[in-house]
Amino acid sequence: MHHGRAFRTIVIVSDSPCTTRLAPSPTGALHLGNARTFLVNYLLAVQQGWRVLLRVEDLDGPRVKKGSAEQMLDELAWLGLCWQQPVVYQSTRAATYRAALDRLSAAGWAYPCTCSRKDVETAGGAPQAGDGATSYPNTCRGRFASAAEALQQTGRPVAWRVKAPDAAIAFDDGLAGRREYDLLKDGGDFVIFKSDGLAAYQLAVVIDDAEAGIDAIVRGDDLLESAARQIHLRRLLGLSQTVRYWHLPLVIGPDGRRLAKRHGDTRLDYYRHRSCSSQRMLGLLGYWCGILPSRQEADMAELARRFDLSRLPRQPVVFGREDDDFLLAR
Ligand code: GLU
Repeated sequence: MHHGRAFRTIVIVSDSPCTTRLAPSPTGALHLGNARTFLVNYLLAVQQGWRVLLRVEDLDGPRVKKGSAEQMLDELAWLGLCWQQPVVYQSTRAATYRAALDRLSAAGWAYPCTCSRKDVETAGGAPQAGDGATSYPNTCRGRFASAAEALQQTGRPVAWRVKAPDAAIAFDDGLAGRREYDLLKDGGDFVIFKSDGLAAYQLAVVIDDAEAGIDAIVRGDDLLESAARQIHLRRLLGLSQTVRYWHLPLVIGPDGRRLAKRHGDTRLDYYRHRSCSSQRMLGLLGYWCGILPSRQEADMAELARRFDLSRLPRQPVVFGREDDDFLLAR
């Protein structure tokens, strides 16, 4: 019945923004290179209104350092990044990864492998095309009926590999452009479960990203080829394909190599304990992202306001003496 009042039209606007994740590996302290990558991820998220989750990639047994995850989160928060709860720790998700492995194995895509790294290197012969890495020579493809049989026959620890796809995998990267990888040539069948019984990086990431509904991934361009492996796994597992990628050039040292210990102490912690403020740190990182015209103190709100992806340098950023001087200046 009409009560003389106009009905308001209710417009339902889709309230499902993209979801991204920060995924630190707690294998050491956060350094300037990781911090810059996380900052770009975060600024893009703030600008686009994405949800930001955080996942600690603490699966790499021997390389994971105690206390490092907490320290990294503390440093990201110090910089001014924030994320939604709960934080996911990969080390707590073994059963989920195992279930995915079982599915791949039941479908004939995954198989047990007892080759050591050395076996693969010596059996592979001359390096293959692509990045010069040796492709897995398929020694264990079709060799064992089960992991138990593999162990019994060889007495060696058993890993699991997934078959590489026959066709090239192509995708469009928001920074690196169109990419195409022939995984059969570049590495071949790859490890998805390691012989220490833990899920390998490629599988864990795919499962976690899918479960959390991640559809926007921003990270270093050292992981471009991994994206092809992850797309392959998503297809095999029947997971959503709607992930967009932005792989950004890394920070390197004056010698052209990826920023690491050899370039001196570039940990955030090092500068922080020498009275470097987060505004100063953000100022350098913002300069490195093409946001600021020079090294100058800045805060997160300013960086978010001025961030422009099209101005992000498409070449690696070189960390040099002036950067170090700026961070340590009072
Ligand atoms: N944990 C990886 C790193 O710190 C990132 C992996 C990913 O973003 O997929 O480099």
